[in-house]
Amino acid sequence: MPDRLINLTMDERSNRVYSLIQRNRKAVGQRILGMKQPTNVKWSDVVLLFMPLLFILIFIPPGNTDAPKAQPSMIPAKETSVRIVVYNPEASLVDDVDLEDYLVGVVAAEMPTSFHEEALKVQAVAARTFAVSRMKGLYGTSTNHFGAHVCTDSGHCQAWVSKEVYLARHGSEEGWLKIQKAVADTRGQIMTYDGVVINPLYHANSGGATEDIQEVWSMVGEVPYLKSVYSPEDANYAQYEKESLFAWEDMVKKIKAQYPEARLGEDPKKEIEILSYSTSGRVTAIRLGSITLSGVDFRELMSLRSTYIEISFPDKNTVKIVTKGYGHGVGMSQCGADALGRQGMDYIEILEHYYTGVKVEELAQ
Ligand SMILES: [Zn+2]
Repeated sequence: MPDRLINLTMDERSNRVYSLIQRNRKAVGQRILGMKQPTNVKWSDVVLLFMPLLFILIFIPPGNTDAPKAQPSMIPAKETSVRIVVYNPEASLVDDVDLEDYLVGVVAAEMPTSFHEEALKVQAVAARTFAVSRMKGLYGTSTNHFGAHVCTDSGHCQAWVSKEVYLARHGSEEGWLKIQKAVADTRGQIMTYDGVVINPLYHANSGGATEDIQEVWSMVGEVPYLKSVYSPEDANYAQYEKESLFAWEDMVKKIKAQYPEARLGEDPKKEIEILSYSTSGRVTAIRLGSITLSGVDFRELMSLRSTYIEISFPDKNTVKIVTKGYGHGVGMSQCGADALGRQGMDYIEILEHYYTGVKVEELAQ
């Protein structure tokens, strides 16, 4: 999943659409299953209940076969569907869809089905929280999608894929069912901090530790639930580490194209200097000849996977950059969630690990 630049305005707006209730798994189970508390039934009540029916059977003549059949009354009422308006730029379509159905497509697009089922649930809750926060207008911007709450552009909101496209590309029916189950098992659950729906940033792989948000988006400032935490990725994940070699003359061209004022000498070893690191170990400032860039700008300039980098010089004309992780590093690491799931943590424990101090709560209608 590519990371994304999201406008993190933290204004809390009045909540007219939904209210939150404290998560209560038992109560939720009863609501979902449509179960009711048992009641004491007296025989006299049963007789009274059936008296009108007996009366009808005795006094209404048979033969009225065209009368509409009575609807079965014991089918539990279907849960009220929460709707979300989604803009699909590929199909040039704005559609009003069921939130839970939409989330299946998001999880299918954002996380490999081979990941642990608890990780898929983590992704489902994060994706739902993202969607609901946008429905409430808390973060981000909907100006790019004709008023829709979210779009299917992974660079702006969350990726999404239809079942048909998922199956055609790489998936199996079994994989789709696994995702559907992860979404259904977490139905209606979202994350809050101090009673407010959070902005659940996530990324592919943190390289061993996630990042404080203000190190990536300094204008946002500190966000209590987006703090650097340990994350157990390793080399088993393809996104964990990547080595890239750059010819110095190509690098100079790249730098000059974007920063024409930069003055750069012949020897890369003298011209490249990492000036500072964040607490998680990512580069926050780097000198390139006469100019200084932030780690984020350097990553963008060189199209690197992350700012978690090591630089070395195998020879006088070559720069070697080893990146750890994939993405901005803020919030939940998808590979880390998979690793923690395999270690035996459940999805709520994993969410609470990556989003410091949050509560997983039930979205009430
Ligand atoms: Zn969008």
